[in-house]
Amino acid sequence: MIQEKLREKAKELLSKKEVDLIIGFSEWTLPLRTTPVFIRTPEGTESLAWNSFCENNLATYLHKFGRFKVGIVVKGCDARSVVALSLEKRFPNHRPLLIGVPCQRMVDRKKVKKAVKGEILQAVEQGDLLVVKGEDFEVTLKRDDFLYSVCRSCTHRTPNQADFLIGDPVEEFPLDEAHPDVSEFEGKTPEERWGSFEKEISRCIRCYACREACPMCYCTECFVDSTRPKWIEKSLSPSDLAFYHIVRAYHQTGRCSGCGACERACPMDIRLTHLTQKLNQEVKDLYGFETGIQPEVPPPLSTFHPEDEQGFIK
Ligand code: SF4
Ligand code: SF4
Ligand code: SF4
Repeated sequence: MIQEKLREKAKELLSKKEVDLIIGFSEWTLPLRTTPVFIRTPEGTESLAWNSFCENNLATYLHKFGRFKVGIVVKGCDARSVVALSLEKRFPNHRPLLIGVPCQRMVDRKKVKKAVKGEILQAVEQGDLLVVKGEDFEVTLKRDDFLYSVCRSCTHRTPNQADFLIGDPVEEFPLDEAHPDVSEFEGKTPEERWGSFEKEISRCIRCYACREACPMCYCTECFVDSTRPKWIEKSLSPSDLAFYHIVRAYHQTGRCSGCGACERACPMDIRLTHLTQKLNQEVKDLYGFETGIQPEVPPPLSTFHPEDEQGFIK
């Protein structure tokens, strides 16, 4: 069983002092959820969990533990983020050891909650099924009908970059066409695209939960907080909202692993991955590059060669 093997490997790494700390997932008090856990003793590894609710991209916590030798549990997308961060020289002291788990795709609890009437008190996975119980109901759902949309189109579920792989690699195929939202967006006229973008971001309250959840947002001072120079006002005006979202998306170009953590963190259900997936697709089409797949290849927008194609500035 994956969870047992994961605990064994984590315990071994801590016992042999190959790492000071394991970052992984643990069960939580609420159903359909796990919580990040930070383990320093071999005995503590008994709290590690693995299930379809291990959705967080744990790479975001690596910035806080730069001085330590860290072992981190990663899915395909998380491993890609760690590789991207490594290329940005974020781990000058110790490169994290990646304990990879081929991902079964993660369950979107909001979709599950919509499918049942009443408060969910317990949710148990049984193979491909999800048994959900409340005070006066019990329903059995097909797990694959309740997946996150980014997970449905994911084609990098196996963390091939991992130092240790727990379980067998999975077959890489999307359940949906790659990024269906992008195709739909591309089918619109420029005016329609701007209109749908403005409408989507109009709900933004600028809480920055999306920024905090993203492993690639680690600047000491974000451009939205800077006062010297001041790049953006603190308002919710359409122009300030558009500025935040466009700059955020462009900062992710060639760096985003498509994990969807930003979108899951948003309290206003804003479809943040519309823009980032579109930019990911552009980078793939133009440069054949996907974030964090080849550990030695830096993102195209971080490199310059005199012979680069420059037709776009003529
Ligand atoms: S994006 Fe891919 S690797 Fe990441 S959680 Fe979803 S299916 Fe798993
Ligand atoms: S999490 Fe949502 S509401 Fe908060 S800043 Fe990001 S997009 Fe806006
Ligand atoms: S921008 Fe969103 S999808 Fe991309 S790496 Fe950050 S959290 Fe993940």
